[in-house]
Amino acid sequence: MKIYKCDAHLEHQSKVELTPGRFIPTLDVAERTSAVLDVLRQAGHTDVLDCAPASKVDLRTIHSADYLDFLATAWDEWSSSFGTELDGVGFVWPHRNRPPRCPSAIEGKIAYYMFDGVSTITPAMWPATLGAAGASLQAAGDLRVAGLPGLVLARPPGHHACWNMGGGTSYTNHTALAAQELTRDGARVAILDIDAHHGNGSQDIFWTRSDVLSISLHADPAVDYPYFSGYADEIGADAGEGFNLNLPLQPGTDWSGYSEGLTTALERLHDYSPDYMVVALGVDSYAKDPAGRLALELADFNRIGEAVASLGRPHMFVLEGGYCLDAIGRCVLNVVAPGG
Ligand SMILES: [Zn+2]
Repeated sequence: MKIYKCDAHLEHQSKVELTPGRFIPTLDVAERTSAVLDVLRQAGHTDVLDCAPASKVDLRTIHSADYLDFLATAWDEWSSSFGTELDGVGFVWPHRNRPPRCPSAIEGKIAYYMFDGVSTITPAMWPATLGAAGASLQAAGDLRVAGLPGLVLARPPGHHACWNMGGGTSYTNHTALAAQELTRDGARVAILDIDAHHGNGSQDIFWTRSDVLSISLHADPAVDYPYFSGYADEIGADAGEGFNLNLPLQPGTDWSGYSEGLTTALERLHDYSPDYMVVALGVDSYAKDPAGRLALELADFNRIGEAVASLGRPHMFVLEGGYCLDAIGRCVLNVVAPGG
């Protein structure tokens, strides 16, 4: 298992994030990837590749030009208006009963493009997310050209980043970028998103396409983040109708309930028979994770890894959420190398 990373993210860390009722220190800390890497190395996975960052052009396959332009200049605009002491964050979000309109003031633009108060604009956000995207692109290319399976230690996460907006500490969508890269030459790709939160960005990007099947198991958005997508009746549209499968689970779901959803996902994947799979590897479904509300134990991640392997399809993993620094490495290892 080759490991792909880019250290540009080490400079990126939000000062605070907004959660219901309070601001907290951000959970997406730079140490997340080193915590995973330490465990992987101890287990003998020492093939680590430092990757070049992606470019704006690379990302145009999955994100709109105006959104990427916003990301590229957001910190400069924010800091020239408000200084460098605080991260950029929105405080008034778009109104549902008005046509979409992007304000010219940076605080308005941030709210227009970033759909929550979790995903702040930091000085190093743009190079960090380009770095994660570059690692994902490299891994997808190696899988496509040489059949090499890989794990992308992507940070910040990406699966909440949509075609033209970001959120959930995601700015660009690294899982989607890998899937897009793998569709070259007409291949069919499946995304299996096991993060505790709905992979709304990947759903959005491939909503009208049948060459990428998106499947997400996550806590029910009626009562958990991201609240406005991830429902079972969201199945895709146009050519993509029937190629999006959401499997919401009640908060507190442990393996007994999770395995039922996973079985449904595996049946759909078996029927679809993709040429490649991208696993959006969020491990915040671990019971002690501070951000997730599912209740998986360490051994359950082995079971997920065995399920993925049982499909026998060429696949790769992209790190998404997972914020329990004591366990994130073991959770990831158990999925990518379930046999030890
Ligand atoms: Zn998550």
